[in-house]
Amino acid sequence: MMEENVAAIVTPAGKGGVAIIRISGKNPLDIAEKMFTPVGKKRVKEFEPYRMYPGQIDGGNFSDYGLCVYFKGPASYTGEDIVEFQCHGGESVARGILRQTFRLGAKPAGRGEFTKRAFLNGKLSLASAEGVADMINGESDAEVKAGYLLYSEKLTNKVRDLQAELKTLLAGIDVSVDYPEEDIEEQHIEELRIALQKLHVQISTLAAGYAVGKKIKSGVTVAICGKPNTGKSSLLNKLLGYDKAIVSNVAGTTRDAVEGVLEIDGRKFNLYDTAGVRESGDAIESIGIEKAESIIRSADVAVFVADYLAADEEDARVLAMLKDKPLIKVFNKVDLAKDDTETDADVHTSAVTGEGIERLKTLLYEKSFGARGEDAAFLIEERHFDALQRAIDSLKKAIAACNIMQPLDLIGIDVKEAWDALGEITGETATEAIIEEIFAKFCVGK
Ligand code: GDP
Repeated sequence: MMEENVAAIVTPAGKGGVAIIRISGKNPLDIAEKMFTPVGKKRVKEFEPYRMYPGQIDGGNFSDYGLCVYFKGPASYTGEDIVEFQCHGGESVARGILRQTFRLGAKPAGRGEFTKRAFLNGKLSLASAEGVADMINGESDAEVKAGYLLYSEKLTNKVRDLQAELKTLLAGIDVSVDYPEEDIEEQHIEELRIALQKLHVQISTLAAGYAVGKKIKSGVTVAICGKPNTGKSSLLNKLLGYDKAIVSNVAGTTRDAVEGVLEIDGRKFNLYDTAGVRESGDAIESIGIEKAESIIRSADVAVFVADYLAADEEDARVLAMLKDKPLIKVFNKVDLAKDDTETDADVHTSAVTGEGIERLKTLLYEKSFGARGEDAAFLIEERHFDALQRAIDSLKKAIAACNIMQPLDLIGIDVKEAWDALGEITGETATEAIIEEIFAKFCVGK
C-alpha cells in the first residue's frame, strides 16, 4: 500500500539530546531532498538505505545540523518508504522541522498511524501492534517483557497454528458436505469430535495464562488489613521505602485507602492500606469501612497485620473477613517483643527495624504468582482473552453438535466461528471499529 506522506515527531515531548522526526509514505525522499542539504557529495535521492547522512536540516525560520536516514519499504517499520531526521532535542527545533515537512506536503500523522500502517501492510499482526503499546506503556519489567513477547508474535504464532488446524478440519467438512457418503459420515463426526476436543484443551490452556497475565498488566491488588494501630501504614511505608501513608498513633486516623505501587522481582503490586476495618458509629469512619470492604473484595491477596503483643478477638473478626482470600498473616512490632513468642503468623515484621520485610515481599510474590522463574507470560490483553473465550464457546457448541450427530455443515458453522474469533487476535477478522479503537489508544508518533 502506498499512502500519502505523513509526518510526526517520534521522540517524547520535552528537552533531550536528540529529537527524531519521521516521514512515512509513498515518496518521503522528495520532501527530504527539499529540506536536507547533505555534507557529502551524495544527493538525497542517491542515499543508500539504512545509513546515516550528516547535513543541514531546514526548520523554516532556522536550520539545524543533524542526521538523515532513509528506510526503503517494504523493509521499514511501516512497510513504506521512511525518512527520519535526527535534530537537536528541543521542542521548538523539532516542531520547526516538522512544520517544514508539512509545508512540503506531508500530512500530520494520526495516533498510532505508523504502527497502523505497519499492520495494514502486513508487517505485524494486530496482537503484535498491541504489544508495541504494552511495551511503551509498561510500568514494570514483567509488563515490558510480556509486551515484547506479544510484539514478537509469540501469541500470534500460537493462534495461527490453532487456526491452521481449524482450517484443516473445515476443509474436511467441506469435502464431506460436497460428496456425502452416509456410512462414513458417522465416523467422520467422531474423528472431528476428538480433534475438536484436543483443540479445546489447547485453547483453554492458552487462555488460562491470563490469570497471571492480568496481574502483570494491572498489577496485583494487595489489601493490607488489620485493626487500627497495628502498624499497617508503617508497614506500607517500609515496603515502599518512602513516607506515603500518614502514620499516627491515634487509632482510626488512616481513613482513606492509600495506594502505593511496589515492584517485586519486576512485577507490579498495588498496595492498599485499608482504613480501620471495625464497627463504628462514626459516619466518616463508616465510609472508610465500606471502602475497605470493597478493596478486600477486589484484592488478589490480603495481608493481615496484627500487633504482635496485643492480638485479641477484634483481630479475629478482621481475619474472618479475609477467609476467602489468599492470605499472608503478619505479626508486626516484633522489635517490642521480649522473647521469641510462638505465633501462627507467616512472617514476623518490624516496621521500625525492617525485620521480616524482605520475607514479606517474597511471600507476596509467591502468593500471587507461585514460585519464581516460571514461564514468561504474554497473554496480558483482555481483548485477546475475550477472543479466546469466544473461540472456546464455539468449540464447545461444535463438540455438543458432534455428540448428537448433527449434520456436518451445521457443525462447520461453529468451527468457522471459532476460527473467526481467533482471527480477531491476529487482526484477520477484526472489524474496522476494533482496529480504530486499538490505534486510538496509541500516542501520536507511534
Ligand atoms: P495503622 O493504624 O495500622 O496504619 O498503624 P500505624 O502505621 O499508624 O502505626 C501505629 C503506631 O504503631 C505508630 O505509632 C507507629 O509508629 C507504631 N508502629 C508501627 N509499626 C511498628 C513496629 O513494627 N514496631 C514498633 N515499635 N512500632 C510500630
